[in-house]
Amino acid sequence: MTTRVLTAVVPAWLNRSDYVRAHDACHASAQLWNKAVSWVRAEWHSGRSPGPEDIRRYVISLPPEFRPLHAHTAAAVAYDLAEAIATTRTGRAHGMQGIRFPWREKAYRPLMLSARSGWRLTPGGRLALSLGRGRERIIIPVPEFTDREGQSVDPDRWGEMKLCWDSADRRWSLHITHRGPDDRLAQALPRHDQAAGTRVVTVAVDEGVINSMTMASRAPDGAYEIAVINGRSARSIKRGRNKRHARLQSKLSRCRTGSRRHRRLTRARKKLAAKTRRQLKNFNHQVTAKANGFVREQVEAHWQAAPEGARVVVQLVVGDVRGIERDTARKRRASPSTRQQLSQWERGVQERQLAYKTGLRIKHISEAYSSQSCPFCLTRRKVRGRTYVCVNPNCALVLHRDAVGGVNIHTLAVNDGAYVPVPPATEMRVKYLRAVPGWSPDQRERHGSRQVAAGRAGGARGREARGSARNRALHDGVHA
Ligand SMILES: [Zn+2]
Repeated sequence: MTTRVLTAVVPAWLNRSDYVRAHDACHASAQLWNKAVSWVRAEWHSGRSPGPEDIRRYVISLPPEFRPLHAHTAAAVAYDLAEAIATTRTGRAHGMQGIRFPWREKAYRPLMLSARSGWRLTPGGRLALSLGRGRERIIIPVPEFTDREGQSVDPDRWGEMKLCWDSADRRWSLHITHRGPDDRLAQALPRHDQAAGTRVVTVAVDEGVINSMTMASRAPDGAYEIAVINGRSARSIKRGRNKRHARLQSKLSRCRTGSRRHRRLTRARKKLAAKTRRQLKNFNHQVTAKANGFVREQVEAHWQAAPEGARVVVQLVVGDVRGIERDTARKRRASPSTRQQLSQWERGVQERQLAYKTGLRIKHISEAYSSQSCPFCLTRRKVRGRTYVCVNPNCALVLHRDAVGGVNIHTLAVNDGAYVPVPPATEMRVKYLRAVPGWSPDQRERHGSRQVAAGRAGGARGREARGSARNRALHDGVHA
């Protein structure tokens, strides 16, 4: 059986002294990075071009006081730097502008711990993380986690791990690589490389602000299966964040730097940012888990319907909207609030997560007119609102706007970028998924009375002033 390397993120609880030592080690790791960056730049300056091994030799040659870390941890800093340089080179070779070779001074870097020498299990059944020879180890309970089948993953399947300070969760976490069963879907090859008897399932993804991902694919019976994954919760998370952030910022601007109030507001701002990051992380995982589920369902359906011995492969195609969130201010096409929405869009993160979960490479294709064209008769129109209504009286298609986008991207993907009408009377099976379960309007109404009561109890401070430190920080001085 083939396997695949996955990464599990598990929380780690460090006692006070270990916390301090891990913290110092992360600073030291950043210092090492900074030193390596200056060295590499100096080498370039004198016409040399050091490779990964040269950087590693330089890092290891530094006196021990500059690298109070395990030798492998220090070497990992060198390799990370070499990789960052290589990534920049590739990006530039592909004409990406504005990407720079590493230059920023870092303050903090996670610690990589190699298997068997960076980390090991103690005879007492604990996990020991090494900070280098002659230094006390960090000892923590052995974390437990399961794979996607719900089976516990034992330490003998673990590889290297990273000790990170998770600023969103405000705690330490271990990123543990481990081998799991290979659940990657089979990637479709270019058409001329495909073996006979191969069935290609094309799953098209239309990305949007309101509906994060709309998935469209053709079922074995010829109908379209469409899943609209709603992303309104992310919008409300961000909107709430933006509002509160603006309020804190305006209060901060009116108080003296370093004053007690200033410190309190800064803390509230940090907490707000951490909470938003946590919520968005959850949101992205919910969206991509549902998208992954959809892709796997489609493959399964085709696999069931395929003749004995046939091979089912997938191509995952995304309408290319890359770059529209960049430089929106100059183009002046969107209003300021739309600009803000676009720049905070979680699109890139979600694409990476979907690629990781399905094990597929994502192909981007042009999505020109995909939201304006009728999939049946190819009439074009501008759409307002959430429903697409075809203007052609002989067609009279009525379909969810994002579903239209998904079907059109699917059409473009299977016809080499050309619009070909979908056969008349093809069934469109649309299902709506909510990324994060929230309250229905009915639930909101039923809970409304409680919110009003809580608001009254808060007196003049109003509905928002319930209990939390953030609210106290927000309202202090205003109602005092
Ligand atoms: Zn039409």
